[in-house]
Amino acid sequence: MEIEELYKKFKECQGVSTDTRKLTENSMFFALKGDNFNGNRFIETAFSSGAKYCVIDEKRALINSNCILVADVLSTLQQLATYHRKSLTTKIIGLTGSNGKTTTKELINAVLSTTYKVKATVGNLNNHIGVPLTLLSFKEDLDFGIVEMGANHQKEIEFLSSLAQPDFVFITNFGKAHLEGFGGVQGIIKGKSELYDYAKSHNKTIFVNTDDKKQVQQTSKYANVITFGSLPDNDYQINFKDVVPFVSLEFSNEVCLTQLIGAYNFNNIAIAVALGQFFKVPNDLIKKAIEHYVPKNNRSQIITKGTNSIILDAYNANPTSMSAALENFRRIEAEDKYLFLGDMFELGEAAQQEHQTITHFASSNFEKNIYLIGENFFKAKTSDKIKKFKTYDDFEKHIKSTVIQDASILVKGSRGMALERILDVL
Ligand code: ATP
Ligand code: MG
Repeated sequence: MEIEELYKKFKECQGVSTDTRKLTENSMFFALKGDNFNGNRFIETAFSSGAKYCVIDEKRALINSNCILVADVLSTLQQLATYHRKSLTTKIIGLTGSNGKTTTKELINAVLSTTYKVKATVGNLNNHIGVPLTLLSFKEDLDFGIVEMGANHQKEIEFLSSLAQPDFVFITNFGKAHLEGFGGVQGIIKGKSELYDYAKSHNKTIFVNTDDKKQVQQTSKYANVITFGSLPDNDYQINFKDVVPFVSLEFSNEVCLTQLIGAYNFNNIAIAVALGQFFKVPNDLIKKAIEHYVPKNNRSQIITKGTNSIILDAYNANPTSMSAALENFRRIEAEDKYLFLGDMFELGEAAQQEHQTITHFASSNFEKNIYLIGENFFKAKTSDKIKKFKTYDDFEKHIKSTVIQDASILVKGSRGMALERILDVL
């Protein structure tokens, strides 16, 4: 079937779905395949759950005339999304980076939504399936669509940019995340900068925080750049004020006290302010939106349990975000501090070295109560003041028999470590 014809059918539907368990009435179901599942097997369920059409790529799934047989469901989904994107007049903001994408996306959404009709990537749907689904969720009446793009190897951002075709782009940072897939730090810069390459070759606008010299370097020879940050000659001057206990900042005579912790969040907030100002959102509304934003899903949340205050940052971890979190925690004043640090994944050959560096930083900056959890940390050379555990279960057993009171606790590790489990024990 031609894409134009498929698009007409898409327009008859209320949206798309790839999971029969979450299918909404009158939607177009895409029978994707993965390592452990095959959507083509769930066509009857899809129809009985309310699907109007099912896009399939196996003949045996062709059970009625509302089944649309294509060569490959995934690439059809991507083509449909691109086709839809081209038909939209909505301004698309595309963002990537090693850390802070989701937080930034939510902050931009909060700011722009005060004044415009905006939709953003839901949760963390930022890959080759998530980006098309995000695009297909954008309706014609939207002023802005915000698209988070994630990547763990080269050419991925190039591809996602070709789908989303963003008008405005931003890279949160070049950090040490997915070192393995990108092939080292230079590989990360190259891979993430594919978003800049897209912007440059299509004359789109790049937003740059000029306090991040690596970003400045990658965009220096390009004219269509909007700058922000602490320097007075920026298009938008935004100054970082303080980080304790929460990040505060100043712009256009507005002082903003946020509910976010960690100096690293300053950059995530600053782009939201800059975009807000660029699109003429009144300053008081920008301030209000930023001040009301509270992080969710284990991302730098502050949780009180009994007499303890916990910084729960167990959503993910890599060397850059781990160092940033430790640096922030070092500066927080508390009677008693505890570190619960879990392994950082996807570091490839650099794994041992990076875990050793974090171990060293922790022991040089914290007197006691340093707990390291996971196989990588377990292999690090440690001094007496560090307690390390090969598995989460060993760690949990130990904490169950430890009394911790009136303490401030930093909990951080990769998603696979799921360190948030420890909250039930504290
Ligand atoms: P993912 O790759 O999983 O999509 P993400 O880039 O969307 O991650 P967030 O979910 O916004 O990132 O944040 C995850 C964690 O990264 C935060 O809880 C915080 O610890 C850390 N972080 C956020 N922003 C930065 C930053 N600018 N620099 C370093 N670390 C950061
Ligand atoms: Mg994310």
